[in-house]
Amino acid sequence: MFDVIVLGAGAAGLSAALWCDELGLKTLVLESESEIGGQLLWVYNPIENHLGAPPVRNGRELRDRIARQIQPRNFQLRLEAQIKAVDLNAKKVFLSGGEILSARAIVLATGVRRRKLNISGEDEFRGRGILESGKRDASLVEGKTVCVIGGGDAAAENALILAEQATKVYLVHRGGKFRARAEFLDKIKRNPKIEILTKTRVTEILGGETVEKIKLQNSLGEKFEIAVEAVVLRIGVEPNTELFCNQIEFDKRNYIKVDHCCETDLENVFGVGDAANPIAPTVSSAIGMGATAAKVLASKFSTR
Ligand SMILES: Cc1cc2nc3c(=O)[nH]c(=O)nc-3n(C[C@H](O)[C@H](O)[C@H](O)COP(=O)(O)OP(=O)(O)OC[C@H]3O[C@@H](n4cnc5c(N)ncnc54)[C@H](O)[C@@H]3O)c2cc1C
Repeated sequence: MFDVIVLGAGAAGLSAALWCDELGLKTLVLESESEIGGQLLWVYNPIENHLGAPPVRNGRELRDRIARQIQPRNFQLRLEAQIKAVDLNAKKVFLSGGEILSARAIVLATGVRRRKLNISGEDEFRGRGILESGKRDASLVEGKTVCVIGGGDAAAENALILAEQATKVYLVHRGGKFRARAEFLDKIKRNPKIEILTKTRVTEILGGETVEKIKLQNSLGEKFEIAVEAVVLRIGVEPNTELFCNQIEFDKRNYIKVDHCCETDLENVFGVGDAANPIAPTVSSAIGMGATAAKVLASKFSTR
């Protein structure tokens, strides 16, 4: 029996665990991946806006700092924890191996994942032409034709980065208008290597050993193909909240609804970090929400 079980070892979950530990609560963190850090491991750009921490070259560097800071921890951390089900009302976590863990409170810090297109070739060519990151993989596209899919900041930024090395970049967006910031869009419009295709969907990624072409369809129903050698998908994120469905209140995009104390509509169940923050997710807010949840639940326990 734990005081607190934290689900997810990204910035939010680790902040909650650090604070719970400091406040004398017996805490367990369950992380499904083999290492801590969550999304920080996908950040290949410098992070310079997390107040109090010196700028880092990328998210992994910040993750390593966090890892060093939690090193002398007393809370338990289990990596590769495969959660089969969670009963938030009973505060029980059922692991796929059969183990059942209980706590007085549960902190949900499961973050977000990249959205998928769910088209043919998307899984098959991952790492074989479908690139993880424009920043990390820019050298792989030298002299090549590439396609970036998406309409937000991440897609626009990747198109600009890849255009430095690639011969040609197609930026394909299913909508008519980009959500990306004006600064990126101005640069894109001025870049002769970037061709924008709006109101167009990529319907299939094809190739042999690696990506060779994509199939597309526009809003007029016209179907066509483009030869490309690499693809970057940036069509947004979605929360990792399926396990909690029908147990606590979600917003219409399945993000966890919380009050200003980070508590859900179920007592002693807290939502922290990106999974509960659809509007303004940042490292700072994730860490702040983790701290808030820990302090609120510690004060509730101490008054009982
Ligand atoms: C490219 C990029 C650049 C960014 N740049 C900045 C920046 O400059 N400044 C800034 O402040 N923020 C930036 N961010 C945002 C910042 O990284 C996130 O807001 C923050 O890391 C979110 O932390 P989190 O703990 O809420 O979620 P996550 O980091 O998503 O962590 C969630 C964790 O939960 C785990 N998990 C999921 N499901 C389960 C389950 N069922 N069981 C157990 N564990 C589970 C995941 O494996 C993961 O480790 C950037 C993000 C990206 C992707």
